[in-house]
Amino acid sequence: MNKKSNGYSKRIVLHFTKEIWDKPIVYRLVKDYDLIFNILKASILPRQESYLVMELIGDTKETFDRGIEYLRRSGVSIQPVEKDIHWLDNKCVHCGACVSICPSGAFTIDRSTMMIQFDPNLCSACSLCVRGCPVRAVEAEL
Ligand code: SF4
Ligand code: SF4
Repeated sequence: MNKKSNGYSKRIVLHFTKEIWDKPIVYRLVKDYDLIFNILKASILPRQESYLVMELIGDTKETFDRGIEYLRRSGVSIQPVEKDIHWLDNKCVHCGACVSICPSGAFTIDRSTMMIQFDPNLCSACSLCVRGCPVRAVEAEL
C-alpha cells in the first residue's frame, strides 16, 4: 500500500472467472469511480479464467475503497501483490506446474536435467505460483 502525494495506490491482482472475462468492468473504474490504473501484467483468454496485475490509484483511500467494493460486487476476486516470492527448492518436486502458470518467465525448466530454476529478478510478485504449486514450495512474504 502506498500513500502518495497524488493519492492512494496499491498493486493488486484481479481474477476474472470465465463468466465475466468479457464484461467492461475495469473500464468503469475510470468512468464511474474516478480511479486510474496501470496494467503491469495481463492474461486475458476468451471464455477462460483471466487475470490482471495492476497498480490502482485513487485521489483518496475512500475513492480507492469504493472501486474495490465495486470490483468485488462485480464478481472479481482481488489479492494484494506481495513483496517477496521465495522458492523453497528443498520442497520442490520439479513437477513444472509453475512454469506454465508464471506469466513473466521467472520459473523455467532446464530441458537437459528437467529441473526447475527460479529467477527472482523476473518475478512480478503476482502470486499465481503460490496458489498453483501442489506442494507449497513457493511462499509469499509480505
Ligand atoms: S509447482 Fe511447485 S513443486 Fe512444481 S515445479 Fe513449481 S515450485 Fe516445484
Ligand atoms: S509470483 Fe510466481 S507466477 Fe507470479 S511472476 Fe513471480 S514466479 Fe511468476
